[in-house]
Amino acid sequence: MVCDRLREVEERILKACERSGRKREEVLLLGASKGVRAEELREFFSCGLKTYGENRVQEFLRKEEELRDLPIDWHFIGRLQSNKVKYVIDKVSLIHSLDRESLLEELRKRAGAAGKVQEVLVEVNVGGEETKGGVKPENLKTFFESCMRAKELKVLGLMCMPPYRENPQEVRGYFALLRRLRDQLEADFRMHLPHLSMGMSHDFEVAIEEGSTIVRIGTLLFGARG
Ligand SMILES: *Cc1c(COP(=O)(O)O)cnc(C)c1O
Repeated sequence: MVCDRLREVEERILKACERSGRKREEVLLLGASKGVRAEELREFFSCGLKTYGENRVQEFLRKEEELRDLPIDWHFIGRLQSNKVKYVIDKVSLIHSLDRESLLEELRKRAGAAGKVQEVLVEVNVGGEETKGGVKPENLKTFFESCMRAKELKVLGLMCMPPYRENPQEVRGYFALLRRLRDQLEADFRMHLPHLSMGMSHDFEVAIEEGSTIVRIGTLLFGARG
């Protein structure tokens, strides 16, 4: 049952890759696991889903402890308060939501103290929505310069949460924008930014067609949650 749901999502990812001339290995499936119980994640893990992204620090810490016997690759994908960075820094491989100077400074401090180089994505507010996090596109280059000075961090690319649209085709322009912003940064800073974290349950196929390398899927895998 659980494995069937994973297989269906896998098939749709594969088809979207084929349609857009991409290899399946270019796209990572991340289970957006907020609100999902640890035991359920254990089942999904046994079906082959190894990467999970959490949104809330307390919930994440509980699950991480409960599932410590499994080699899960944890990411942090939600808004991150600076005062919570210290709890997650040694437990996540990738933070998707770097979007402000104060968080950048805290990440530098804590990564430095932990003796690690923390891999991050810069979140971009592609829809210009007040209620959402993310750097505004017009401020991205300046913020990126600060990121480049932080030796304790390694920026691997960009992430976005576009406005919700009933018709996922209407989200395509936002995904294309994120890709163009990435390409521009690569040119400006003469560096490779391999990752575009974009696409959720209702729009991941369009995101893959537009170059996504990480799709964050919750509802399709785990059902509707509180
Ligand atoms: C919840 C969440 C997702 C997954 O959304 P679904 O529509 O349930 O697939 C992806 N990214 C982030 C940042 C989320 O908070």
